[in-house]
Amino acid sequence: MEKSKYQVLLYYKYVYIEDPETFAAEHLKFCKEVGLKGRILVAEEGINGTVSGTVEQTQKYMDMMHADERFQDMMFKIDEHEGHAFKKMHVRPRKELVTLRLEDDIDPHELTGEYLEPKEFRAAMERDDVVILDARNDYEYDLGHFRGAIRPDIETFRELPEWVRENRDMFEGKKILTYCTGGIRCEKFSGWLVREGFEDVAQLHGGIAVYGKDPEVQGDLWDGRMYVFDERISVPVNQKEHVIVGKDFFDGQPCERYVNCANPECNRQMLCSEENEHKYLRGCSHECRVTPRNLYVKEHNLSEEEVAERLRALEEEKQHA
Ligand SMILES: [Zn+2]
Repeated sequence: MEKSKYQVLLYYKYVYIEDPETFAAEHLKFCKEVGLKGRILVAEEGINGTVSGTVEQTQKYMDMMHADERFQDMMFKIDEHEGHAFKKMHVRPRKELVTLRLEDDIDPHELTGEYLEPKEFRAAMERDDVVILDARNDYEYDLGHFRGAIRPDIETFRELPEWVRENRDMFEGKKILTYCTGGIRCEKFSGWLVREGFEDVAQLHGGIAVYGKDPEVQGDLWDGRMYVFDERISVPVNQKEHVIVGKDFFDGQPCERYVNCANPECNRQMLCSEENEHKYLRGCSHECRVTPRNLYVKEHNLSEEEVAERLRALEEEKQHA
């Protein structure tokens, strides 16, 4: 097999960056010169990015970042890939790296949960007095998560603190283990948990991305795949076994294939088999199927009769159910 010549980098660092606007503009220029594609956020509190490029391009970028004393110890998680994982290159100045919108912000350098390396996290998950809390969004959890982890009933990360307050009993007196994709969300969130008065709070250092590559734990106790914010959509984690936890939006069958609802105004992300994508015109509801703007109908050049035929078939199936 030919070795892949591209890499995807995932990284962050909480470190003071003066004038994020200027930094972002200069950084964008540099990234474009190197030939990278991806998405980078810059704030006064630090940097968070994911970029793709050839091995040479990504290496040049890592060397340049490590030569800057602010980022000299920045950890890059590296995935091999067969091409770019993004279409464009963006560097955006932001107020926060992750949107938590706390009334009193957390500086992870001052307050954060205990860092656990993959092996330690693996061991902690097997204790009886722990709760494993997924600090990601629901659609990320639905595709894959640690066995036994709690799925907070929230749609976005910024709702997480309030959800924890409403469900305090679940965590009282327990050791809380939090995890997220690359670790950045847990840095602040675990700090917030400590400030809320939870005494034993730990976070997976480097996130799932590091856990899956650890030569010893090999992603053990992870079920499903890991959602990623690039064109790959998901990547494998558990090298020992593959348990599918994703369920098809329409029929509940095991499924790990994400598509977006064909109604551009809806755009809902749903797990859906190829078969059901055709059957339901990739619409999450009747309204999304029949909208004149349905992208599935356009992509497949379906005539009005063909659309009507499929809708009739769905209607018949519903009546026989
Ligand atoms: Zn929809």
